[in-house]
Parts: sequence; C-alpha cells; structure tokens
Amino acid sequence: MKTIIILGGGVGGIVTANELSSHLSVEHKIILIEKNKEHTFAPSYLWLMNGDRNKKQISVTLKSLLKKNIEVVNATVNEIVPAEQKVKACEKEYHYDFLVVALGADLAPEKIPGLDDSIHTFYTLEGAAKLHEELKNFSSGKVAVVISSMPYKCPGAPHEGAMLIEDFFTAKGLRKKVEISLFTPEPQPLPVAGPELGNAVKNILDKKGILFHPSMQLNSVDTKSKQLFFNGKDTYEYDLLIVIPPHQAPVAIGKSDLANANGWIDVNPASLQTKYENVFAIGDITSIPLPGRWIPDKPMMLPKAGVFAHLQADVVAKNITNKIKGEKADEKFCADGYCMLEAGEDLAGFAYGDFFGEPHPQVYLKKVARKWHIGKVLFEKWWLSPVGFKKVFYKDLLLAGGTLIGVPVKL
Ligand SMILES: Cc1cc2nc3c(=O)[nH]c(=O)nc-3n(C[C@H](O)[C@H](O)[C@H](O)COP(=O)(O)OP(=O)(O)OC[C@H]3O[C@@H](n4cnc5c(N)ncnc54)[C@H](O)[C@@H]3O)c2cc1C
Repeated sequence: MKTIIILGGGVGGIVTANELSSHLSVEHKIILIEKNKEHTFAPSYLWLMNGDRNKKQISVTLKSLLKKNIEVVNATVNEIVPAEQKVKACEKEYHYDFLVVALGADLAPEKIPGLDDSIHTFYTLEGAAKLHEELKNFSSGKVAVVISSMPYKCPGAPHEGAMLIEDFFTAKGLRKKVEISLFTPEPQPLPVAGPELGNAVKNILDKKGILFHPSMQLNSVDTKSKQLFFNGKDTYEYDLLIVIPPHQAPVAIGKSDLANANGWIDVNPASLQTKYENVFAIGDITSIPLPGRWIPDKPMMLPKAGVFAHLQADVVAKNITNKIKGEKADEKFCADGYCMLEAGEDLAGFAYGDFFGEPHPQVYLKKVARKWHIGKVLFEKWWLSPVGFKKVFYKDLLLAGGTLIGVPVKL
C-alpha cells in the first residue's frame, strides 16, 4: 500500500488526484491537502469583471470535482520535509511515499511600495467582483492596467482584461470618454511567443485604441495623488488603477529546501521530478527554462498557465502509477500549449504551439473569431461540472469541436 500526497487543490492538484484515482487500485491512499473548500475557475475572473458572470457561476465545492476515494484535508500546508518524507499542515504531520507539489503562485501586492486597498485587480475572485462594481460607476477618465512584475500567471490575461474593459465601455457608449493604457515591463506582448505573435496582439490592441506601453517597470504608486512611477524616471497619472500584483511562491516552499534562488521549484522539464526522486512539482510553482528566448540576459520560463499544470499533472500521475505497479515510468511532458485570448464582443483569438520547440518556442495565433470564445465557454462548463459528468457531455463536445476546426484538444 502506497500513500501519495498532493499539495494544492487547484488545476494541477485536481487533475493529478483524479488521474491517480482512475489508475490505482483502492488499497493505495491518495490524500489532497488544500486550504480552500471552494474552487473557482480563474480564467472566468475576466467575465466576472465585465459582468458576464457572477461569483456563484464560477465557484464550486472542491469535493464535487474530485473522485470519491480521494481523501481531502482542508488545511494550510506549513512545512515540507522531503528528507523525512513528511509534510505538516495545520500542525498535523502526514507521511508519504510520493509527493506532488501543486501549490501555485501567491500574489504579493505588498512588494510594490504604495499599493493599498484602493487599487483594483482582476487576478482574484473578490478583486474581479469589486472591479466590476467600480467599472459600473466609472464614466470618464484614465484607466491603467499595469503588469507590475514578472513572472505572472497566464501571459494573455492582462491583454484580455484590457480588451474586455474596452468592450465594456464601448457597450456603455462611454468609450470616447475613457483612455485605456496597458503597461508592462516586457518589451512586447507575450514575448515568450516571439515577435510575430507579439506584433499580432499589439495590432489588436492598437485597433481597439488601447495604448500599449512596453518596457515599463513599475517602481511605486502614490494612491493619494493617483500617480504611477516607472523605470526610476517616468510618471503617469491615472483615475482607475488595475494591477497584476507581483507573484511569489507560497511560504511553505520558501522554507523548504525545494525552492531555488527565486523561490520557485526547479524540476526535470520532462518528468517534473524535483531533486528528490519521489517528489514532483507541477504548475505555477515550477520554474522551467525555455530554449532560445531570453529576457534580457536570463532564459524565459515556461508561462504559468492552467493548460501546462493540467498536462504536467497527467504526466506525473501516469509515472507515479507506473512506478507503483513496477512498470516503466517514462511518460514525458511535451509543453504543447494553447490559450483562447478573449478580445471582447464574444470573440477570441487562439494561440497555440510547442513551447519546447527548437530553436525557440513555435507559437501561432489564429484569427479572432467567435468559435474560440465558444471553446473557452465550453471548457469553463466542462471544468466546473461535477467529476461524474465530465466524461459524458462536454468532453465529447470539445473533442468533436476541436476535430472539426482542425485543432486536436487534449483533456
Ligand atoms: C485572471 C486569470 C486568467 C487566467 N486565464 C488562463 C487561461 O485562459 N488559460 C490558462 O491556461 N491559464 C489561465 N490562468 C492561469 C491558471 O489559472 C493557473 O496557471 C493555474 O491555476 C495553475 O494551476 P496550479 O495547480 O499550479 O495552481 P492553482 O490552480 O493556483 O492551485 C494552487 C492551489 O494551492 C492552494 N494553496 C496554496 N498555498 C497553500 C497552502 N500553503 N496550503 C494549502 N493549500 C495551498 C491554493 O488555494 C490553490 O487552490 C489564468 C489566471 C488568472 C488569474
């Protein structure tokens, strides 16, 4: 009998637990430790912000997404001790044979001097709901969407956010009275995907009149005078500030010897194994360098995105299962990713490609169309539906839709 412990019940943790439960016989123990009882679908925060969803529509109980034989512990992980094959959560100890760390990335607004509660973000459920109320009351002025630092989750999301805000004010007939700017420390939109795709996204922003400001590193904010300070010299006055806050690894990782110098976890890019043979890390908590992309003198990392957490979970679950069964554990993560990029008016673009491609990631963008938006909505419904229903309706619909438009969908 083996015990597998999964830390974190977000995208990666949920998929790992369910896959293990599908393939392992019942004498093995699968324990998932997660601090929240509710699970929310992060891509839908953007629709919460623009009023297309309410909080209830994008929240479900974690248990409804998990197979029955998975033991769920509702607790905060405080300590990970790989040398002793144990973790501590809310002061209780749990011992494992295999550990999968899927704790994601925490937001750390306190790292930017001057950021306080008056600012907005669509990177949390509560933040997106609060921002919607603000947008409803905002009738004219300057809106600044600011990517405060790297890395951050989902390279497309800030651009999608800016476009949905543009769409929101257009629909209200206020577009001419609102200036929308997007600031980023990056030299172009989605640099990981290369200059061609970056230009394509920039063109979409230009067409919508969204002012794109690259290479702008936010230093501090003065919320009283409503000023932003960048690059040690540039300033910008705003009326409404929306920030993608700095990201950092959860405290428990920083205290463990799994963390690298930046706080994230280094893994073998193919197997997701950490420096410990029986400890794996997946999703946003990992740091995986990509071939042929540099910013400015360091390699770029695999984007923090649900699609990768999902695929990595499949690989890790399969390899742990095979190890337990005494079979060859040689499943590899191949970093084929995709993203539906919401552009407003119920339209979306579709970026897809091989992020481990040589000499650099090969990523392409399909033209903005309604079908990609519908694909995203279907994925949302599939993800949030109870585990027992997943296999039947939405999965078939997604697979059929993918085949029809010539893009294989992996679930
Ligand atoms: C606005 C927005 C839009 C996005 N859109 C997309 C998209 O279109 N496509 C895409 O691929 N990705 C998207 N993402 C990114 C995606 O949501 C994440 O990359 C994905 O959730 C990562 O999965 P994960 O399992 O690594 O982490 P998470 O899903 O964040 O899960 C981590 C879990 O660990 C738990 N946890 C953390 N610390 C502790 C602790 N100490 N003890 C116990 N539990 C803990 C957390 O509560 C959480 O449930 C978006 C993100 C945002 C914010």
